[in-house]
Amino acid sequence: MKHYHRFNLYAQGEKASDLSVLIAGGGINGIGLFRELALQGIDVLLIDKSDFCSGTSAAMTRIIHGGLRYLENAELRLVRESLRERNLLLANAPHYVKPLPTTIPIFSWTSGIIPAIRNLIGWPSKPGDRGAILIKTGLTLYDLLAGRKSLLPRHKFRFRHTVFSLRPSLNPEVICTATYYDARITYPERLCLELIQDAEASCPGAHALNYVSLQSATGKQ
Ligand SMILES: Cc1cc2nc3c(=O)[nH]c(=O)nc-3n(C[C@H](O)[C@H](O)[C@H](O)COP(=O)(O)OP(=O)(O)OC[C@H]3O[C@@H](n4cnc5c(N)ncnc54)[C@H](O)[C@@H]3O)c2cc1C
Repeated sequence: MKHYHRFNLYAQGEKASDLSVLIAGGGINGIGLFRELALQGIDVLLIDKSDFCSGTSAAMTRIIHGGLRYLENAELRLVRESLRERNLLLANAPHYVKPLPTTIPIFSWTSGIIPAIRNLIGWPSKPGDRGAILIKTGLTLYDLLAGRKSLLPRHKFRFRHTVFSLRPSLNPEVICTATYYDARITYPERLCLELIQDAEASCPGAHALNYVSLQSATGKQ
């Protein structure tokens, strides 16, 4: 792997010290920031010591979720923000981001209500099974927070008779199922490369270089 001195980064003879912003790390966070700055016309250099999007951003589970599990801690603002981001990805990158239906089998009506209340009032206890009432409440809230502009269908509850007519081989102890939607991303690496190209095309002062490593930094950081 080659390491370049910061003043040798530009083939055009520009000095790295002339830059407004240097971003070290071309994962989704660095690339997202790179594009935001480029769209505002700010000269910015993005470097990565390896291929772009070859770190954590390529190793994720590829679920674009709205943070359903954060509801149990009443982190409503975080869930709303995640749902908005999920919707933006579905709208802006439909070629990579697709709906992901998930079906939860449910075995009781009331399980999990007391631990959920304890959690909300700050006395956490071990999470156990979640019953139909708790799941229905959580998914209804999830749909509400997604808002009317959500591009995904709302959740669906199915009772025993419908469930077994659709899936006869399901565990006979299931009393109902809940199907809700999140999204999945097929190729995060490709999305990242598109964002880089978009940023470079929209701002003449935005450049991205891979196989360039940040070794040290001086001055204001
Ligand atoms: C197992 C797992 C599953 C996940 N699943 C999901 C999921 O389903 N949905 C979801 O939204 N999030 C998920 N996440 C979280 C998500 O993947 C991360 O939050 C995100 O990828 C972090 O991106 P990043 O840009 O901060 O880091 P990275 O993608 O790791 O990027 C950092 C980059 O910096 C570069 N770098 C490091 N040092 C230097 C240097 N000195 N000079 C130049 N470059 C350098 C690296 O090469 C790397 O490319 C998951 C995370 C993990 C670990």
